[in-house]
Amino acid sequence: MIYLVEDETAIAEPIVASLRHLGYEACWFQRADAALEGLLSNPVDLLIVDVNLLDGEEAGFALVHEAREADLSMPILMLTARDAVEDRIQGLDVGADDYLAKPFDLNEFLARVRALLRRVSQVKQNQLKRGELELDFATNEVRWEQKAVRLTPREYALLEILARNPERVFSAEELVDRVWGEVENSNVVRTYIHYLRNKISNDVVEKVSGGYRLGV
Ligand code: CA
Repeated sequence: MIYLVEDETAIAEPIVASLRHLGYEACWFQRADAALEGLLSNPVDLLIVDVNLLDGEEAGFALVHEAREADLSMPILMLTARDAVEDRIQGLDVGADDYLAKPFDLNEFLARVRALLRRVSQVKQNQLKRGELELDFATNEVRWEQKAVRLTPREYALLEILARNPERVFSAEELVDRVWGEVENSNVVRTYIHYLRNKISNDVVEKVSGGYRLGV
């Protein structure tokens, strides 16, 4: 879902039409307060905001600021007046990710939208779900059968290496090297795999010829 907050119909209509034509769900607001209310109840993938809106000059800045204060992390594209350098700076200062000066070419606008949405999908790819195992590489959270599992930093580091390359077999020596550095004896891997199996499941790591790999 993409929100467009823009008071001018002549600008908003072609934007909404082209977003929908490309298959995005788009919702158009003319007021910042209505948009904020919507954002707080339904997170969106992208927010596009004009500076001056129906509920006030510079209401767009306040909207971006309040959205970030509320910990909303979607990418934000600000629409600013051409040559208004202060607007661009202020927009970035309050938490926008990018800006586009009006009037703009629709194709350039859509290219910016795609670039910002790609960022979102990369963040979403920062997660692994295989079988009952879920890993969030951004927050280091681990879940098994939908229940949170608490791992020590070393346990997590070992699991993350296996999970980022789920088909690959890692030798004990390589795992030691990547998790502990060279100082440890490779027996430490066996010990930590035992910890992971105890805390998560016996199936989480598979012992195969030549080393270990993710078991799910
Ligand atoms: Ca406006």
